[in-house]
Amino acid sequence: MNDFIPPAKPIIGDEERAAVDAVLRSGMIAQGPQVKAFEEEFSAALVQGRECVAVNSGTAGLHLGLLAAGIGPGDEVIVPSFTFAATANSVALTGATPVFVDIEPDYFCLDPRAARAAITERTAAILPVHLYGHPYDAPAFESIAAEHGIKLFEDAAQAHGASLQGRSVGTFGQFAMFSLYPTKNMTSGEGGMVSATSEIAHNVRLLRNQGMERQYANELVGFNARMTDIHASIGRVQLTKVGGWTKKRQDNAAYLTRYLSEVDGVTPPPVAPGAVHVYHQYTIRVEQDRDRIVKALREEYNVGSGVYYPIPNHRLASLEKFAPGLDLPETERAAAQVISLPVHPSLSESDLERIVTAVAAVAKAGA
Ligand SMILES: *Cc1c(COP(=O)(O)O)cnc(C)c1O
Repeated sequence: MNDFIPPAKPIIGDEERAAVDAVLRSGMIAQGPQVKAFEEEFSAALVQGRECVAVNSGTAGLHLGLLAAGIGPGDEVIVPSFTFAATANSVALTGATPVFVDIEPDYFCLDPRAARAAITERTAAILPVHLYGHPYDAPAFESIAAEHGIKLFEDAAQAHGASLQGRSVGTFGQFAMFSLYPTKNMTSGEGGMVSATSEIAHNVRLLRNQGMERQYANELVGFNARMTDIHASIGRVQLTKVGGWTKKRQDNAAYLTRYLSEVDGVTPPPVAPGAVHVYHQYTIRVEQDRDRIVKALREEYNVGSGVYYPIPNHRLASLEKFAPGLDLPETERAAAQVISLPVHPSLSESDLERIVTAVAAVAKAGA
């Protein structure tokens, strides 16, 4: 059988190894000049110069961003249920209540109309996700937020470099979080980057370091969520490459869509007008038998794939208490139908051919 095609593949090269080695040799390994340089370079490269603050995970970035924006007990924050649990977890960890809302069927992102309908007098903010690397409908959420005097944030964990109508993801909300976990579009090992208004960025900076800006002059109760210079040095190298990797992801996606559009029962991911999709995932819908298709791709064709996410957040044991009896039909339909195919930059032309051939054969066998 052919070699296994993995669903994701972090790329770590000689430059990253050399950068880590240089930091280790410097003797300064905790947060220092590498982190500062990484923040400035990330800001210039990806979020049009907005202030950036590096932390030790994407989840910490969301949690600190919410706290820095004043979210806490008594507040409701509207989130999608069709996302990674970190989105709602960070809301719950502030003491606020995550309010789960349905997605729109095209791009799998939070549905603005459903979000508007879920607003109460306790709603403090909306935290939609740029899921799979496709930007959410920012203009719609911006008008809802302005109309109701509530805040708008961004879970941009999967969307480094995505944009809508020329505006970069990471510049829409009062703050945005990018994850730097190894399977994301770029990595620092573990890590997160928050882009924010200067007031929120200032508070995130305090919260990540025990509430201190000046040593031992603690202004508020904070965490240790600092990124190390070791991790930042990896991130800085990856930042110089992520543009090329994104281009490769987009080319791979274009290839997959060209062939999969012809396959009955398979819907390739559409892209909204004016949107730049960075394909953290290339996610198709299949009308039936999703789990059989995933299994056959793996067992008969040695093609890896992923299901993100099989259980909506509002039905997880950890989060269901926030959503008793809630029914989110588009979320359930997506959770039953989605398959993410390999789209990462290491795929060869023959990998791509194998993927489309396998999907076409497996989809046909079930029809
Ligand atoms: C990965 C991810 C996170 C969490 O990021 P970590 O760096 O793993 O903590 C949050 N939200 C979404 C949508 C993610 O994909």
